[in-house]
Amino acid sequence: MIVREIVRDVESPLSESADAAVASITLDRQGSATNAIFEVRDPASERVIATPPDHSVDDGLAALARADRAGRAWARETARRRSDVLHHAYDLLIEQKDRLARIITREMGKPLAEAYGEVQYASDYVRWYAEEALRPAGNFRENPVGGSTILTSRAPIGTALLITPWNFPMAMATRKIAPAIAVGCGAVVKPAELTPLTTLAVAEIFVRAGVPEDLIQIVTTTRAADLSSALMADPRIRKVSFTGSTGVGSILLGQAAQHVIKTSMELGGNAPLLVFDDADLERAVEGAVVAKLRNGGQSCVAANRILVQSGIADAFVEGFTERMSRVVLGNGLGEGVTLGPVIDDRAVRKFSSLVDDAVAHGAELRLGGSAPDGAGHFFEATVLDRVPEASEIALTEIFGPIAAISRFDTEAEALERANSTPFGLASYVFTENIDRAFDVADRLDAGMVGINQGIVSNVAAPFGGVKASGLGREGSGEGLEEYQEIRFYNLARRAR
Ligand code: ADP
Repeated sequence: MIVREIVRDVESPLSESADAAVASITLDRQGSATNAIFEVRDPASERVIATPPDHSVDDGLAALARADRAGRAWARETARRRSDVLHHAYDLLIEQKDRLARIITREMGKPLAEAYGEVQYASDYVRWYAEEALRPAGNFRENPVGGSTILTSRAPIGTALLITPWNFPMAMATRKIAPAIAVGCGAVVKPAELTPLTTLAVAEIFVRAGVPEDLIQIVTTTRAADLSSALMADPRIRKVSFTGSTGVGSILLGQAAQHVIKTSMELGGNAPLLVFDDADLERAVEGAVVAKLRNGGQSCVAANRILVQSGIADAFVEGFTERMSRVVLGNGLGEGVTLGPVIDDRAVRKFSSLVDDAVAHGAELRLGGSAPDGAGHFFEATVLDRVPEASEIALTEIFGPIAAISRFDTEAEALERANSTPFGLASYVFTENIDRAFDVADRLDAGMVGINQGIVSNVAAPFGGVKASGLGREGSGEGLEEYQEIRFYNLARRAR
């Protein structure tokens, strides 16, 4: 086993500029009726980096009133105007990429290079929806029995409640905010309490780009449940878009049902990654490393179960373990670091217990497996081989840098095991046989399939899952429609 020194927090110009970036955020743009605050900590050092207001339910309702009022005026703007503002916001976000990337790394921990990647990816949603805002939003059809023409149009649905997770604090915010405001909705955004700072910085930039001051309300709070139930009981909320755990998603779906609110739910995953004997070994290893380690494995589309066919398994495990052993663990601002801290101590304890349980069930620990001592929440890049199906790690969404590999013999067995989960977000297939690639992709229960690559996220693609992984899609044209409702006009015509 290779255990290395980790790169700890470093006093460097980079960390100073990260602190300056965090300090430049206006923490209370919208105002709070109380003086309550909460602490945001850097997961790499556990140091408190900011104390944003802990907004109350009443603050949230006041924010809703502002967003709703601003949304009504914004909906009357032309699509061209909304598009221009979003284009401008894209330019400003990119102009501020250094600052935004540092804020992301400080509050969430990912290596700075990945934070830059997130800034680009997140900004791409803004540009995409600046373009989508201008696309046709209706159609024209004839009544099949004559006598009328049916015109359909799409109207903004109304004010949206957007609840985001901590793992991609910028991308999850823009993936929801951009389509909402592109079509003419106001938004109340509830960022994760662990990572509210990036969202605040992004909202400021939107305002500088010309988005009306009140249109996007960021409500930082530790009282997520109270806030969201009060907002959803208010008839001004017409849409809720949530990314997070299936447990919380179910609660929100219950509340949405009660008040008949349109929902988009991007929930948990348990992505299988299948490597067949006829895969290109190098491509499979590289794809699996990316699918496992992007964002330190803290992604709902991360490869959770790596299933490898017996003929290629030994070579794959060797190549994969070698690649994983090159990972440099440490503070995301540290030079050469490729794996940052995990989000909190609870995650570290969970990973240790998943590894212990897998080993107790007979899995072979090939790499890592421990949490280094000292400040910060770190866990080593870990490889487990021959993971039994009954072990906890095969059933749980890992959300961390642990690769759980198991082996299979036939395609039918692989599919059966891949689909034996309540979840169905992403999956991955590696094979050089094009027939197999499509056959297997068709039969996987998943909203997204990466074929010979470890990435599925793309602004042009409808991101979302099946089964317990959610409802609705984000990104692409489909993501825009989530913030619209259809109406039609039945226009009487003279008989011909
Ligand atoms: P995770 O386990 O990844 O933190 P959660 O589903 O707990 O995922 O959190 C995702 C988002 O949902 C966060 O912004 C969090 O504050 C919020 N949240 C948590 N519980 C509730 C709740 N009961 N109602 C509404 N939002 C919630």
